[in-house]
Formats: sequence, structure tokens, C-alpha cells
Amino acid sequence: MILAIESSCDDSSISITKIDTLELIFHKKISQELEHSFYGGVVPELAARLHIEALPKILEECEEYLPQIKAVAVTNAPGLSVTLTEGVAMAKAVSIALNIPIIAVNHLKGHIYSLFIEKEEKFPITVLLVSGGHTQVIEANSLDDMQILAKTMDDSFGESFDKVSKMLNLGYPGGPIIEKYSQNGDCNRFTFPIPLSQSPKIEFSYSGLKNAVRLKIDELEGTSLESQDISDVCASFQKTAVDHILQKLKKLFKQKTIKDFAIVGGASANLYLRRELEKLCSSYGTNLHLSDLKYCSDNAAMIGRVAIEQYKNKDFINIEDLDIKTRLKDY
Ligand code: ATP
Ligand code: FE
Repeated sequence: MILAIESSCDDSSISITKIDTLELIFHKKISQELEHSFYGGVVPELAARLHIEALPKILEECEEYLPQIKAVAVTNAPGLSVTLTEGVAMAKAVSIALNIPIIAVNHLKGHIYSLFIEKEEKFPITVLLVSGGHTQVIEANSLDDMQILAKTMDDSFGESFDKVSKMLNLGYPGGPIIEKYSQNGDCNRFTFPIPLSQSPKIEFSYSGLKNAVRLKIDELEGTSLESQDISDVCASFQKTAVDHILQKLKKLFKQKTIKDFAIVGGASANLYLRRELEKLCSSYGTNLHLSDLKYCSDNAAMIGRVAIEQYKNKDFINIEDLDIKTRLKDY
């Protein structure tokens, strides 16, 4: 069995996965959304302190499995330095205590492997990663052969939901909140410009859309911002954010035949995005793969799933070489 630890942002999570059967034996996550909601975003110092409380609490629950653990895996990049450090410190301690090797896992590969929890991996696959820190299209041929085909030039898809939610004082994380308000809103009431719609390049941008929404909110606040206005702003924003992705993916699908496509990352839980991508994929004869909703946001099950492949490849890291990285240029 492999014990995996995830603490790259505001979720403390530990999983235990069987190496031979891929079975998830144990999985627990303690989220800090409520604590950060007050500030309208993640406060790194507070997140680190909460990990120090939560991670040992979860580890205690794993005690009965510890004699069977063959390696400890941990997210070491990318993420917040002070929170990654908490997971890495725990992994080092577990490694010394149990005399087992350490596996350093790339969080973004974790999101991709959320597709393969308790399942065999399936490559090649083209993946849209939409999360709090990233918006990328990745051509994934294997664990060690992944290339970025397109990415955002500024904000990420999920981040734009967080920022719009903050502008409207609706709380954090913005994604699920905006999605909920959108359900009662008219997505055609406000027209926001679709980012980069005139550009032939396949790349993303969300900062312009965010500013357009801010101007509209200012204008509405000048009169009075009723609850129906809020729902309509949310629905119109969400539609434009998704239209931008659809426009760019259409370009990609026209350029190359894609047999298998997937959406991963926290924002891949968005049902409107899922529905629209289902339509797009079916019109191109492409199979759409989705992670289970409970594995879209950060979790240790996906980190453990990557770690099994790294374990088979004997991809271990010396305790003194294990460090954290807040950013990664490529895969
Ligand atoms: P990264 O994985 O890039 O390092 P992260 O780990 O902070 O960033 P995730 O936990 O994967 O990000 O995803 C969180 C993001 O997903 C937040 O920005 C959140 O608002 C967004 N999100 C979650 N649910 C939804 C939803 N239903 N619609 C849109 N966005 C969503
Ligand atoms: Fe993430």
C-alpha cells in the first residue's frame, strides 16, 4: 500500500491505495473553505496552520494500515510554499519512522490521474485542466510524456470565478457559488466580450473578462444591485467563460483528430462546462472522460494514484533532495 499526502493549497488530505489492485483503502480530506471564506480567498499562513492541525489528525486514523505501507507519496509542486512544506515535512517523518522510500508527486499530474482512480490508466488522452491556478490543454501520452498545447496568459478559469464571487461579496470558493446563482439567472441579459475571439492562437485569458464584469457590477451598483441582477451577472459571466473555452477547443479539434478528451481540476465539477463539452465532443466524435465529481478538487486519492505508477518505475527521491516548488514550467 502507498500512503499519499496532499496539502498544496487549502485541503488537507491523506489516502491509502493498494499497489496491486489500485483499490482505495482509505481516503479523507479536511477542507478549509469556511475558514478562508471570510477573507474572500486562501490566506497562506492560515492554511499552513490549519494543515498542522488537520494532517496529524487524519494520519492517526490510518494507524492500523501503517505496517503495510511500502512508500509515502507527497505533493511537492506546484502550490503554496508554506502549505506544501507541511505535507513534505510529514512525508519525511513518515519515511523515517517506517523506513520506507518517498515519492514526490506533481499535483497537476495528480489532477490528470483523478481520471484513473481505482482504474487502469488510459493514454494517449488530451486533457483540459481547469483549476484554481491553471488553465491548460495537455497532450498526455504517458505519465512521463506530457506536453502543454495551450495555456492561459493571465488568470485561470477557476480563479476568475473566485474573483467575480469576491466582487459580488458571495464568498469563497467562487466556482460552486457562481454556478448556483447562475441557475436562476438569465445568461443572455449581459453581453461580455469573449476573450481572444479574434486571435487565431489557441490560448486563454480571463483578466479582461473579469474587468468587464467588474465594470458591469459598478454600473449596476450605481442604481441598485438586486438579487436577480446578481444571478444574471453570474449566468452571463459563466456563459462567456465557457464560450471562450469552447471557441478555442473548436480550433484545436479542427486542427487535429482527438479520440479521447478529458476535463480535470476543481473547476471541471462545473456542470454547465461539462454539458457544453459533452456537446462539443459528441459533434467531433470524440470520447469525453470525466473524473468523479468527488475527485475534481484537490485530494490525496489522485496523488496516491500517480504514486503507484512512480512506485512501479522505482521513481523515489532521497529525503535530503526532497524540496518544494511553487511553480512548474512544464511537466
Ligand atoms: P491548482 O490545481 O491549479 O494548483 P488549486 O489546487 O487551488 O489550483 P483546485 O482545487 O483544483 O485548484 O480547484 C479549485 C478551483 O476550482 C477554485 O478556483 C474554484 O472556484 C474552482 N471551482 C470549483 N468548483 C467549481 C465550479 N462548479 N465551477 C467553476 N469553478 C469551480
Ligand atoms: Fe489542484
